[in-house]
Amino acid sequence: MTRPLDSTDKTKAIVLKVAPFSRTSHYVTWLTPQHGRMTTIIKGATRPKSAFLGQYDLFYTCELVYYTRDRNGIFIAKECSSIKNRLRLRSDWKACAAAAYIAETASRITVHGPHQLELFDLVDDHLDQLASATPSEEFIYRFELLILEKLGYSPQMTKCAKCGAADIASATGYQISPVLGGAICGKCQPALRHRPVRISEALMETIKNWQAFTHTHSKSATVIVSDDLLALRNILGIFLAHHVDVLLAGRKHVIELVSA
Ligand SMILES: [Zn+2]
Repeated sequence: MTRPLDSTDKTKAIVLKVAPFSRTSHYVTWLTPQHGRMTTIIKGATRPKSAFLGQYDLFYTCELVYYTRDRNGIFIAKECSSIKNRLRLRSDWKACAAAAYIAETASRITVHGPHQLELFDLVDDHLDQLASATPSEEFIYRFELLILEKLGYSPQMTKCAKCGAADIASATGYQISPVLGGAICGKCQPALRHRPVRISEALMETIKNWQAFTHTHSKSATVIVSDDLLALRNILGIFLAHHVDVLLAGRKHVIELVSA
């Protein structure tokens, strides 16, 4: 069955990227709940009387109407209206940097096609949080932990990630192997090829708390001491590099900005 040329569909969509397509048109990359990542051309976007003017920009959540017939995976936008413009992100540079990191991460881990309802809600919620408050370093790590969970790589923190033993604590804290996916018991540690990262009991509790509340939209009010922040930065960085394709240069940049 062929669809008529002018058949359209409507979706909520978050702007992840805007790039020039021609003198007056834009390429826009979106995150949608039903079709993952989508790219549209917005024709005549920058013309003075364009109906699109002011309706979309980076980090907006919009209602997008597009023609369902694509050309090489690129759709043509028919209409677009802003639902949330998150204006605070234009004046708070730490929040803006964190929003850029979230958008870049979302863009890298999604493709066009599959449902991404949970990821859409996660990104939408974190952009809302950034639109209301300047982010802490903890905010970035909690977002990363939630991303890992959505992708099925949530760190295993309740039993040994190698042998499954429940006894993972020691007098000096816990040993985490991001490559193996979580905590490692005393018996398995000598056989590891990669050096594990030691974390304190307090950090272990924080990570478990964050994992327990992954399905709520509660904000993270947790404050973590600096040694633990460094361990968390290290562990999540290896997790992300090993299991997920994120841009680590962008990560370093955003962490340095928000912790300054
Ligand atoms: Zn073990």
